[in-house]
Amino acid sequence: MDKTKIIISSCLLGNNCKYNGLNNKNDEIIKLNIKFEFIEICPEVFGGLSIPRNPSEIRDGKVISNKGLDVTSNFTSGANKALDIARTNNIKYAILKDGSPSCGSSYVYDGTFSGTKVNGYVITAKLFIENGIKVYNEKEINKLLEELKIC
Ligand code: SF4
Repeated sequence: MDKTKIIISSCLLGNNCKYNGLNNKNDEIIKLNIKFEFIEICPEVFGGLSIPRNPSEIRDGKVISNKGLDVTSNFTSGANKALDIARTNNIKYAILKDGSPSCGSSYVYDGTFSGTKVNGYVITAKLFIENGIKVYNEKEINKLLEELKIC
C-alpha cells in the first residue's frame, strides 16, 4: 500500500536551509519515513532567499529582516509555492518547524529580535491551515499519529 504523503519543513530533516546555514534535524521525525512519504519544503528558499540569509521576524503584519529589509513578498511567494506543492500532492498533513516566521504554528518571535516569543501561526502555516491542511509542529508528532491512528 502507498504511504501517506506528508509535508515536512526541510530543516527538520537535517537539510542546512536555516537562515544561518544550519538545520533543525529531528531524528524522531526522520524515523517517520517508515510510515510516511515525505515532501520537503523550505518556503524561505522557495521565495528566493539565500542560504545563509539575515534572520527575519514579523512586525505589524510584515516580515522584516534584522537589517530592516522588508522581505514579506519573499515569504508570501514561498508560502504560495509550498501550497502549490501541497495541492499537487494532495497533502492533508504537515509537520512544520515551530517559531519560524514562515513555518511557525504555535509561536513566533515578536519582531524586536530580542528573543521574545508570542503566540501565533504565520505565513506558510497560516496559508496551509486556511486551505484545509492540518499543521503540526515538531513537538506534536504523537498528536498527528493519534489522529491518523498510527502507532
Ligand atoms: S522556512 Fe521553514 S523549512 Fe525553511 S529553514 Fe525556516 S523553518 Fe526550516
